[in-house]
Amino acid sequence: MTQDAGAPLAAMFINGQFQQAQGGETFVSINPANGQPVARIPFGDDRDARLAVDAAADAFPVWSRLSAAVRARHLHRVADILERRRGEMALVITSEEGKPLHEAQGELQLSIDSLRWYGEEARRAYGSWIPDPVPGRRLLTQRDPVGVCGAIIPWNVPCGMIFRKAAPALAAGCTMVLKPAEATSYVALKIAEVFAEADLPAGVINFVTGKASAIGNVFLTDERVRKISFTGSTETGRVLLRGAADHIKRTSMELGGNAPVILFEDCDLDASLRAVAALKFLNAGQACIGANRIYVQSSIHDEVGRRLADHARQMKVGEGSLPGVAMGPLVDMKAVEKVEELVGDAVRKGASVRAGGSRMQGEAYEKGSFYAPTVLTEVPRTARMHDEEIFGPVAALYAFETEEQAVELANDVPYGLSAYIFTENMDRAIRVGERLETGMVGINEIRLGAAEAPFGGVKMSGIGREGGREGLDEYLETKLLAIRVKG
Ligand code: NAP
Repeated sequence: MTQDAGAPLAAMFINGQFQQAQGGETFVSINPANGQPVARIPFGDDRDARLAVDAAADAFPVWSRLSAAVRARHLHRVADILERRRGEMALVITSEEGKPLHEAQGELQLSIDSLRWYGEEARRAYGSWIPDPVPGRRLLTQRDPVGVCGAIIPWNVPCGMIFRKAAPALAAGCTMVLKPAEATSYVALKIAEVFAEADLPAGVINFVTGKASAIGNVFLTDERVRKISFTGSTETGRVLLRGAADHIKRTSMELGGNAPVILFEDCDLDASLRAVAALKFLNAGQACIGANRIYVQSSIHDEVGRRLADHARQMKVGEGSLPGVAMGPLVDMKAVEKVEELVGDAVRKGASVRAGGSRMQGEAYEKGSFYAPTVLTEVPRTARMHDEEIFGPVAALYAFETEEQAVELANDVPYGLSAYIFTENMDRAIRVGERLETGMVGINEIRLGAAEAPFGGVKMSGIGREGGREGLDEYLETKLLAIRVKG
């Protein structure tokens, strides 16, 4: 493991205590904008994960028996602290993940909203009294918390994803062990400080950093962990689903996207272009709901390409904490190399580069992992980026002729997280929206996330939903009580 004496030493949070890894190892997390160390992080393994599961299992009977109203008060307290510390937390997100401060603030807002909304929603998680055809019997259902949950978090939404899982789980009465992505472990351990300050009962929430496969394996094999909630790549999701099958373990899977955006010639072009640019370059293109395939009706394809390219060239790229920066770095150099590979492949197959198409040049970018906002037009269907998530700031435009063809192209991948339609013809929007094989469809709208709304995918983009009432159901079991009544 790399050691760096200059960076602050962070600690895992297990059973209400901050502590180092059992093995004593650490690693250094890096600011992707300048290569500077952000913090030294404990490199935990199965031993630490097991301690955390012990704590979560011990805390479960206490936490699950509190009333939902009392649990809600705890969650509101966490939200209050997060709100008070949001300036500091936004800086931590930006320095470790790279996104501009305003995007980090958006993540924090969603986190605060999730805590407050789920705190209240769990108070309404009651069962039912079922009309019974059998005389002398009553049928009742009650909603019980699933139990100890293991949560695995990606680096691209390092704060928001923690609360999208922890808020409904804790509100429902579950206890949780979280494993953040290696790249954004410091964000998670700062969030652990927020929970510590809120003084929840020890063991209700635990944070373990370090070796993904070892920690994941404890989640998969320890019988006390009743559910795994995962957000990340489809590839890792597949590994976890295989492991979960051995123990018939409940899972929620929020996996990769490959979102189609369909721009019809009858769209409001100014508003649509603003929306598409914002969606494409959000978090430097590293968003599961980001625009991966932009289908443009051929009559407006050239104009859209030209105007998006003008926009891309004017964007201020740099360290996310600097004023006016619209786009930060990619998460690391490996991500930059993957984008280079996909752009090279598309260009070799006939795509035209209208803006960007290379790493950012200049002294300000030398130590970071920056790739220029890029626009490619006339991308052929055979380009790898059509079938793979680009996860970088590359707007790939494909021309189409008819509504039918647009729907076919949009559905022609194994993923189905989000899709977007831009048209002023509402009949068309509804027709197309109904046929798209995705969990979410934006119609002249790119913002899909809200604490109140179900978020998730179909096909290889996942199983289950986060957000909304559906997000609470992921942490609840329904128990039937059949009762004999005399007389
Ligand atoms: P990833 O490589 O799958 O990693 C996600 C998490 O899984 C990280 O914490 C990682 O830990 C952990 N992990 C990796 N291998 C593991 C194993 N064998 N056992 C247990 N845990 C393991 O994905 P990523 O690159 O961080 O995230 C990007 C992907 O997430 C994209 O595909 C994106 O579309 C998807 N995503 C989906 C949603 C959604 O809601 N559908 C939201 C955000 C992101 P380490 O970092 O320590 O390896």
